[in-house]
Amino acid sequence: MTTLLKAQPLVDQKIADLTKRCQTLIQNGRTPFMKVVLVGNNPASLTYIKNKKRICEMVGAKFELDQLDDKITKDEFLKHIEKLNNDPAVTGIIIQLPVSPELKTLRITNLVNPEKDIDGFHSKNTQWLYEGSYQTNHLLPCTPKGIIGLLDFYQIPLKGKHAVVIGRSLIVGKPISMLLSNRDATVTLAHSKTENLVELTKSADIIISAVGRAELITVSHINPQRKTVIIDVGMNTLDGKLVGDVKFDEVSPLVAAISPVPGGVGPMTVISLVENLILATEKKS
Ligand code: NAD
Repeated sequence: MTTLLKAQPLVDQKIADLTKRCQTLIQNGRTPFMKVVLVGNNPASLTYIKNKKRICEMVGAKFELDQLDDKITKDEFLKHIEKLNNDPAVTGIIIQLPVSPELKTLRITNLVNPEKDIDGFHSKNTQWLYEGSYQTNHLLPCTPKGIIGLLDFYQIPLKGKHAVVIGRSLIVGKPISMLLSNRDATVTLAHSKTENLVELTKSADIIISAVGRAELITVSHINPQRKTVIIDVGMNTLDGKLVGDVKFDEVSPLVAAISPVPGGVGPMTVISLVENLILATEKKS
């Protein structure tokens, strides 16, 4: 029987825990306050932001969206971020990507004060990954943090296991590779130029696909004898439906466990972000 690695039971647990921690902070005069900065009105970004707001409100944290004109100059944008960095009431800041073409040349990930960097993208925060630690009191990047949370919740062993991560982006592929390595997995990081992907995935105990291509992973990538665990990070549209990178119907019967899309990594990313907000506020208290 294949286990479906659904996020909901863990999300429910985390919401209960974060609500308590948020109440304690508020009682001590420190309201967790998330500011999201959006440049323009990208519809996908607005959907992601709505989810962030919903979870903030569920746990009792304050949320505000600063929607900036897509014609904003670099100087004006930098001033806006500086103002938020210096505002003692704001405890977590997210610059929603993508930004306008004009702003793309800025090193966006390093603009937010590292203590308020709840996305976990600032080099001061990603440094923890390189240093080999996996401490829950660090502001780790949210999708990788959520993936590790999901694997732990379903008691998937990592130590000594062969994990094949597909995709080497800064927000998913690279940081999850390091987190898995810090948790004693043996990691292969595959990407668009990898020549023997099928050979690699067939020898994997854990496959993490973060590519963004529907039906990339098919039965040909799976060795049914290995009882593989698959984490599907991809978010793609196929025939008008949200799907992952894995051809779910044919692959899922051949593996030990698989995260569904929707309902797997997506909700874990949002809850990890709110967890980082509470953590950042606690650290300031
Ligand atoms: P990206 O475009 O920055 O990186 C994609 C990576 O895939 C690249 O490193 C590239 O080398 C690799 N790749 C491309 N084609 C490949 C192929 N044929 N074989 C092997 N590797 C290949 O993407 P990203 O920002 O890391 O996002 C990846 C996917 O994950 C997207 O669908 C995105 O929407 C999704 N995502 C989901 C969440 C979530 O919370 N569920 C969070 C972040 C990203």
